Amino acid sequence: MKQQVLILGAGFAGMWAALSAARLTNLHDRGDIEITVLAPQPELRIRPRFYEAGVESFAAPLLPLFAATGVKFIAGSASEIDTASKQVWYHTAHDQLAAVHYDRLIMATGSHINPIFPGAKEHAFDVDQLESAARLEQHLTQLAEHADSEARNTVVVCGGGFTGIELATELPARLRAILGDTAPARVIIADRSPVVGGRYSQELCDVIKQACDELGVEWMLNAEIAAINKQGVTFKNGQFIASNTVIMTMGVQASPLTMQIPAPRDAQGRLHVDQNLKVIGQDDIYATGDVAYASTDDKGNSALMTCQHAIMLGRFVGNNVAADMIGISPQPYQQVNYVTCLDLGAWGAVYSEGWDQVVKSTRTEAKKIKVAITSELIYPPKAEKEIAFAAADPLAPFV
Ligand SMILES: Cc1cc2nc3c(=O)[nH]c(=O)nc-3n(C[C@H](O)[C@H](O)[C@H](O)COP(=O)(O)OP(=O)(O)OC[C@H]3O[C@@H](n4cnc5c(N)ncnc54)[C@H](O)[C@@H]3O)c2cc1C
Repeated sequence: MKQQVLILGAGFAGMWAALSAARLTNLHDRGDIEITVLAPQPELRIRPRFYEAGVESFAAPLLPLFAATGVKFIAGSASEIDTASKQVWYHTAHDQLAAVHYDRLIMATGSHINPIFPGAKEHAFDVDQLESAARLEQHLTQLAEHADSEARNTVVVCGGGFTGIELATELPARLRAILGDTAPARVIIADRSPVVGGRYSQELCDVIKQACDELGVEWMLNAEIAAINKQGVTFKNGQFIASNTVIMTMGVQASPLTMQIPAPRDAQGRLHVDQNLKVIGQDDIYATGDVAYASTDDKGNSALMTCQHAIMLGRFVGNNVAADMIGISPQPYQQVNYVTCLDLGAWGAVYSEGWDQVVKSTRTEAKKIKVAITSELIYPPKAEKEIAFAAADPLAPFV
């Protein structure tokens, strides 16, 4: 019987883990090792584009790529991990319960937003998953059918992190297209920080502020959300903003499946991993992408919940699991380079390099980089074995 590498999740980390593991087993002619991906859909969902219009088109098919590289795919949603018997129970596409065995397990089930505020689950929108982003898009389109009112014309984006900023700066143009040029549309970013872009470098904050000012995106600072209802959002200081469109962008947590692995986790639920991306205290379980808390270098930096990190974590983890089974040395995970490229809607974008976020380009020049990243770089490789395996090499250049 073949030995089984089971990967839970077909996102950036899961897809690259599968290709990288297939690459190494192929290089060592180890047809006795089978690589299987278990996920609800055989597609890579391009989450970094979910703030844009046309969200339903942001998914790339994976079956041709998996067929070309010898990766098996099971459609299903994992519900229980039995680490003693090395089995994962999952619900099939027809909601039947089934089990699959593993010799090595790679956790790659990503992250999701956690709407903790009263009323958020029922009344707020988000751009976290394809379905919820599509729901927001449909709601925005239908705003034109609502009677003109302050609540109709006001969008509150809760959270001034990268996702909140990208969404908010995109919205003025989207709202104008939906409501017309003369509608008094307002886009407000509500954040508990006392300054715009509080956690970023001063240079980056200055650019964000300039873009928001020019686009008319307002910032509401020191804003602690108390509750959300159909009429709008109430803050802890008692202030109320009337809005039919309150969008949550903060409170991202690792997939709840991580709780089934007896191992240390960080505050976001990510599993602590060693330099080979093996879960601390586990012999056969690895973690990657948004479910892994991994050190990126020897300067104290750690991987963020970004696809920039998920792609590389995927390439390394697949390689290292295969190396473990083949009996050769793993490739310790290292990702020294870190860049940010933030879309700023009609204003353009801003591109920075390094953990200290030194701004390298802005406006249309940075927008070209952003478009190249989100419409080419992060998409799956061509469904051809040689091309896919070359890209899956953990030592192949990335950013
Ligand atoms: C709006 C938005 C904008 C973003 N912008 C950027 C950006 O500009 N730059 C950047 O680097 N990052 C960005 N990110 C973050 C980036 O998308 C994530 O860090 C990345 O998707 C993580 O990859 P992953 O493979 O770990 O998880 P995901 O891409 O979320 O993939 C998880 C996979 O696991 C599957 N899965 C989930 N539960 C189960 C289960 N129970 N059983 C089986 N399979 C399961 C899912 O279906 C999916 O296939 C953005 C995210 C969002 C939402």
